[in-house]
Amino acid sequence: MKADTYSIELNNLHVGYGAVPALHDVSLTLSKGQIVTIIGANGAGKSTMIKAIAGLLRPTSGSIKLFGEPVAGVSADQLVPRGLSLVPEGRRLFGAMTVRENMALGAYCLSDTMAIARNFEKTLSYFPDLRNRLETVAGTLSGGQQQMVAVARALMSAPRILLLDEPTIGLAPAVVDTISAVIGTVRDSGVDVILVEQNAEIALAVADYAYVLEDGRIVTHGDASELARNDEVQRAYLGI
Ligand code: ATP
Repeated sequence: MKADTYSIELNNLHVGYGAVPALHDVSLTLSKGQIVTIIGANGAGKSTMIKAIAGLLRPTSGSIKLFGEPVAGVSADQLVPRGLSLVPEGRRLFGAMTVRENMALGAYCLSDTMAIARNFEKTLSYFPDLRNRLETVAGTLSGGQQQMVAVARALMSAPRILLLDEPTIGLAPAVVDTISAVIGTVRDSGVDVILVEQNAEIALAVADYAYVLEDGRIVTHGDASELARNDEVQRAYLGI
C-alpha cells in the first residue's frame, strides 16, 4: 500500500512532557476502513499517543501524516476541519448544557445546516436512547449515557477519522456492548477509527489491527484476532 493512502501514519514519533520522554520512536499506520487499537497498561503512553495525533501535544521529533499530509505540530482546532475528531478520556462534556447543545457544539466547524441536520439524525440512529434525552442536562445523565453523548458529539463534526481515548472505562457491560457496536458501525459507515483501550479484551474484539504499547514503545503489533491468540498478550493483557 502506498504511504499516502494511509489515513494516519506515524513515523519515529517521540513525545515528552518537558524534558521527560513519554513516547519513544513510535510508528503506526491506520488504513482506510480499519479500526486500529492501541492497548497497554496504565501509564504506557496510550493517551499521550492519541493526544499527539489529535494535535493536543506537539511531538519532539518524528512525523504524523493525515491522509498523506504532514500535520505534526498542527493544532487540534485546525485538525477537526481536516476530518479528525477526538472522544477525550473522561468525556469532557459541558455538564450544565443539554445533550442537544453538547451535540451541536461538535458541529462547530460545519456551516451547511442541512448537512448538520442529516448528520444529527444519523448520529442519533446510533444512540436511540439519546433521542428522548435531548433536552436533558448532560451532567445529570449516567456515566454510560454521558459516554454516548461524548461519542455523539465527536461524530457531529462528520469526521473521516474518529479517535477514542478509553471510551469504555468504568462503564456497565451493557453500555460497553453498545459503545463497541457503535464503533464497528462507525467504521462500516466509512469512518476510520483509532481506539485507545486499557481493556484489551474489548479492544481486540472490536479492532482490525492492534498495537501493544509498553513504557512508551510499541512492543508488538498485528491483526487483532491474531494478537488475541498470542501467548504473551494473553498472559499480560487478557488474564489468560
Ligand atoms: P492511562 O491508561 O493511565 O491513561 P496511558 O497509557 O494513557 O495511561 P499516558 O497518560 O499517556 O499513559 O502517560 C504516559 C506517561 O507520561 C506516564 O509516565 C505519565 O506519568 C506521563 N504523563 C502523562 N501526562 C503527563 C503530564 N501532563 N505531565 C507529565 N507527565 C505526564
